Amino acid sequence: MSNAKSLEQLEQKQDFIRRHIGPSPAQVTDMLSALGVSSVEELIGQTVPAAIRLEQGLSIGESRTEVETLSYLKSVASKNKVFKSYIGQGYHPTHVPNVILRNVLENPGWYTAYTPYQPEIAQGRLESLLNFQTLTIDVTGLDLASASLLDEATAAAEAMALAKRVSKAKKANTFFIAQDVHTQTIDVVATRAEQFGFDVVVGPAAEAANHDIFGALFQYPSTTGEVVDVQDLIAQVQSKKAIACVAADIMSLMLLKAPGKLGADVVLGSAQRFGVPMGYGGPHAAFFATRDAYKRSLPGRIIGVSKDRLGNDALRMAMQTREQHIRREKANSNICTAQVLLANMAAFYAVYHGPDGLKTIAQRINRFASILASGLKSKGVALKHDTWFDTLTVVADNKDDVIARAIAAEVNFATNHAGEYSISVNETTTRADVTQLFDIILGEGHGLDVDALDVQISNDGVTGIPAALVRDDEILTHPNFNSYQSETEMLRYIKRLENKDLALNHSMISLGSCTMKLNATAEMIPVTWPEFAELHPFCPLEQAQGYQVMINELHDWLVDITGYDAVSLQPNSGAQGEYAGLIAIRKYHESRGEGHRNICLIPSSAHGTNPASAQMASMKVVVVGCDKHGNIDMEDLRAKAADVAENLSCIMVTYPSTHGVYEQSIKEVCDIVHQHGGQVYMDGANMNAQVGVTSPGSIGSDVSHLNLHKTFCIPHGGGGPGVGPIGVKSHLAPFMPNHSIINVAGTTEGNGAVSAAPYGSAAILPISWAYIAMMGSEGLKQATEMAIVSANYLTEKLSEHFPILYRGQNNRVAHECIVDLRPLKDASGITEMDVAKRLQDYGFHSPTMSFPVAGTLMIEPTESESKVEIDRFIEAMVSIKGEIDKIISGEWSIENNPLVFAPHTQADVLGSEWDRAYDRFYAAFPVASVAKDKFWPTVTRIDDVYGDRNLICSCPAVETYAE
Ligand SMILES: *Cc1c(COP(=O)(O)O)cnc(C)c1O
Repeated sequence: MSNAKSLEQLEQKQDFIRRHIGPSPAQVTDMLSALGVSSVEELIGQTVPAAIRLEQGLSIGESRTEVETLSYLKSVASKNKVFKSYIGQGYHPTHVPNVILRNVLENPGWYTAYTPYQPEIAQGRLESLLNFQTLTIDVTGLDLASASLLDEATAAAEAMALAKRVSKAKKANTFFIAQDVHTQTIDVVATRAEQFGFDVVVGPAAEAANHDIFGALFQYPSTTGEVVDVQDLIAQVQSKKAIACVAADIMSLMLLKAPGKLGADVVLGSAQRFGVPMGYGGPHAAFFATRDAYKRSLPGRIIGVSKDRLGNDALRMAMQTREQHIRREKANSNICTAQVLLANMAAFYAVYHGPDGLKTIAQRINRFASILASGLKSKGVALKHDTWFDTLTVVADNKDDVIARAIAAEVNFATNHAGEYSISVNETTTRADVTQLFDIILGEGHGLDVDALDVQISNDGVTGIPAALVRDDEILTHPNFNSYQSETEMLRYIKRLENKDLALNHSMISLGSCTMKLNATAEMIPVTWPEFAELHPFCPLEQAQGYQVMINELHDWLVDITGYDAVSLQPNSGAQGEYAGLIAIRKYHESRGEGHRNICLIPSSAHGTNPASAQMASMKVVVVGCDKHGNIDMEDLRAKAADVAENLSCIMVTYPSTHGVYEQSIKEVCDIVHQHGGQVYMDGANMNAQVGVTSPGSIGSDVSHLNLHKTFCIPHGGGGPGVGPIGVKSHLAPFMPNHSIINVAGTTEGNGAVSAAPYGSAAILPISWAYIAMMGSEGLKQATEMAIVSANYLTEKLSEHFPILYRGQNNRVAHECIVDLRPLKDASGITEMDVAKRLQDYGFHSPTMSFPVAGTLMIEPTESESKVEIDRFIEAMVSIKGEIDKIISGEWSIENNPLVFAPHTQADVLGSEWDRAYDRFYAAFPVASVAKDKFWPTVTRIDDVYGDRNLICSCPAVETYAE
């Protein structure tokens, strides 16, 4: 009896592993036999160099069931104490509209999509991002906006970088930051400035123009709540030919004059309080707007309007030639993964409430602040400022007593400025809350009555907003912000957009290097638990004990998995991790008196973020070539390392390489760089081919970032969020990012921050935590092995029809492979773009196109796709090959064939005219399996050139709808 029970438990234990891993045991057997091997172990032996195989297993422990995992995590989460937060400083409680919570944030149709590189099957999120840009443009009063940055503080750092690029004050090297900018923003900007070699001056706003500046940053309203009239400050800055940047609160902008209208060159901020939970610091979207004249310098992605082949309006990512993949060391910034899901939530919040609803919310917040202010003033409490939107700062000699009363009442104020405390009211604040605030600040028996105060301030016209700064223009007049205020309409709008997008809940997305694997539902569930979602990042650590437990466990697991000694979870994306890692390297060299080391070796196969990050850390990039097998050219490496030895800072190397092979020479690569005094930065984006089998630390690397949104199951969200923690060896640990408000355990005091929040995008860490817990040591290793099995199976099958560009030892690939389309292109004239678009007709998202080699497709099936799905993809590729053959044989001309007309929309196929060399049915249903679940692209092929020549980055004017 007891035996039977433990067996049952054992089966349950394995349950999650077999759900996460797509191929069944029978399918695995078939795949192995297609590869001519008899076991997974045999294949791994042929594939992974023996010299780097881990001898010991991971020490994560046994796999846990979904039920066990969630119940344990719930007990951890319940250690967090959700106090009422009036801390403000860029983070505010908000009501996430339930229609958005369930149908966007908790909906795989939205959260499992990729960055919209294939716009014909991404028109839904592109429209939503265009709404986000329109919202940004309207509230900021500027011409041009990007589709989200990582957080307010990094957006401010990007503003500084833009200022340096475009300012005509070419000799100036100082960036001024007003002292009443949010503390964490000053911190992140100062870190970035140090890397760029800029001087930063922090001082009273009025002193900006006293310095020799190329740019300045003001906060509107200030971190302590003053509604600063920035107009004169901006003019003073501009009189020095410097760029005026304003960090603004998005909710206040519903009532305040747009900084752009006051002359600002750049306006940025966080869109968090537009319906995105605080989540202990993130993820949230930052907005960023600037003048049209600076469009080529704008950081981050921009969505633009163009036309499709049939002349219909169609959306796409604009100016993709600015993408860092192409610009590499000339990139404006290193932003790749951004915050698309959260930008979409904020945009939907604006769509749902509309301009009137948003204004009402802002007015209500402002009214509560005004009631609070006049009540306090009537009792003789000294306020620091006589203007406010939502935040009051009290100058107090009884600060400690007040804070003690607040904590006893489970209420948090901002306390990090000496001799004062601040209270930010928010969308969730009620009348009862304001009474409680009076009780806390004044002690009970104060006799103030909120209703009476309300009448009084209304009669007296008290708002805290200077008359000159009251917004008087109309915003959000576009129909998208005025048509969906009923929940029925809103639900359908969200669904309509979702239906236009192909995400992982429809079919495999085999993007090489992006690891589009399962994002299990059980992993997602904790994200919206209030115990995780509703913490302010600067709440006292005692209130975040649940987070601390979860973060520490995740930290230790990642240490085990990577073979490093310490991990920082602060970076908000892989690219930010690269930046943080390079800073650690730089500081390490400086600490040894070798601060002159500034050369970064980067193999030609590297991802574009590598050189872009190196440039952000003021390193000089020296490119190392690759041989004809795709491996680092060791002769070239030896020569270049020796050549620059004196100044060698590091190498940035991706492993397995983006060519999809485990280079045999990787240990030697590390040795050569170390011999010349350099450090090894191993880009960990491809950790899905390492976990449990090898590790960067054991190979000999010093630092890596991981992409938790690739290997560790955080969904891509249509282009973000992400988490890019870095792992380091102990000698680099003292140089990891800290934070100026919350001291991050295990890091050195005084180290600057790379993100606004101490633990970055903390709210999505439970996803990776749950994945690791449910897989356990054994499951994680199996996942890596199965990713390798599937990639090799796919390679084997496709190689019968297409050349495979690179292979490693024994003719095997790692977790991805590159299909070379160039010979077919030469023979037929069909491009990789045609193949990518034709795949859409078959219901698939294209693999990664033209990276790392132009004219190729890089395919990564991951362990989560079943053999059935992989076979369907192979069938599509083989069928497309057959179509190309018909062009080569002359049966179809190069002008008239299903590839060049791909993708086919319903309107195209069902239109009244049809003069194609292939029939209508074949256009849309080229193989039988498509009919089961036909996905219709909603626009035909998009004209990129037209879109860039006629750049429109906000919702098209209403008239164009009438056309
Ligand atoms: C995805 C990726 C990156 C960048 O990561 P982000 O999170 O998008 O910033 C860097 N290197 C490689 C090899 C990648 O695949």
